[in-house]
Amino acid sequence: MQTVGGKYFDTFNTISAWCEQSLLQQAMDQCAFYNALLSKTVEGSDVWRINHAGGEPVPVSQHTLTILKTAAEISEASQGAFNIAVGPVINLWRFTSGEAKVPDGESIKTLISHADCSKIKLQGDAVTVPAGMEIDLGGIAKGYITDRIADFLRERGVFRAILNFGGTVVTLGSKPDGTPWIVGLQHPAGEHGKKCWAAVPCSDESVVTSGVYERGFYVNGVRYHHIVDPRTGWPVQNGVDCVTVCSKNSLLADGLTTALFVLGPEQGLNLAERFHVHAVYLERDGKISYTTGFNFVILENTP
Ligand code: ADP
Ligand code: MG
Repeated sequence: MQTVGGKYFDTFNTISAWCEQSLLQQAMDQCAFYNALLSKTVEGSDVWRINHAGGEPVPVSQHTLTILKTAAEISEASQGAFNIAVGPVINLWRFTSGEAKVPDGESIKTLISHADCSKIKLQGDAVTVPAGMEIDLGGIAKGYITDRIADFLRERGVFRAILNFGGTVVTLGSKPDGTPWIVGLQHPAGEHGKKCWAAVPCSDESVVTSGVYERGFYVNGVRYHHIVDPRTGWPVQNGVDCVTVCSKNSLLADGLTTALFVLGPEQGLNLAERFHVHAVYLERDGKISYTTGFNFVILENTP
């Protein structure tokens, strides 16, 4: 098996398969294209142009439209728990800057009051976002990109592969011996990539996880992390340590994981059932809850 790695979207990503290394490299190189299209910080990207259009319609690529349609669907179904308009609030927290800090409550309040993503309009290939609103596809773009890279490999005859894009894992086919891939779920307290609390067997499926341990910081023992409750603008503090969604569709799984994180287990598992995906929550107190029939294994070292 060959593996290539690449740093994109603020994480280290790997693609592994039984094929030429150069083909895997080509697959990884696709990330540069998607980053140039979807990053909010790359000048001239679709998202950058949307955010700098001052309320005017902006023609965008089909890729961006597809993501925005799914984002709108998840937003509506989650009653706004998933909200790509939280961008300015996320900027305020500066999670990815290395200098994250707790912003003042008034600024949060003001910015979140403008974050009504139901006002985003899609007409033909044009997107209109009201002036003063900004979008951030950080909660869903990786799902779309991994779907596209998986397709890129399938179109070139690669039917057994595994992609790991920092919490978004996509499996193609099964292992060569015909048994499913086993995707480990990161232990919230363990060293990154070293300790798992559960294992999910899967073939041709995505396993997407959002966790408090991913990006964030502590102040006086309180964890401030990168998933924000759109009702308040503050990082979600609902006792959820991590949630994983398993689906054939990585785009859907990624968006839903973020939504489920915000909603918490009770409403989140209902939403997962409505979208016919499997999901599992691990809470800080060790409680585990999951959708009916989800086939996964809880490992011994669970908190
Ligand atoms: P990652 O895989 O990077 O951990 P997640 O899928 O967990 O990403 O989503 C977190 C990212 O989504 C944040 O960095 C931010 O860009 C964006 N985000 C945060 N809160 C929300 C929300 N309530 N709705 C939609 N997107 C959000
Ligand atoms: Mg997500």
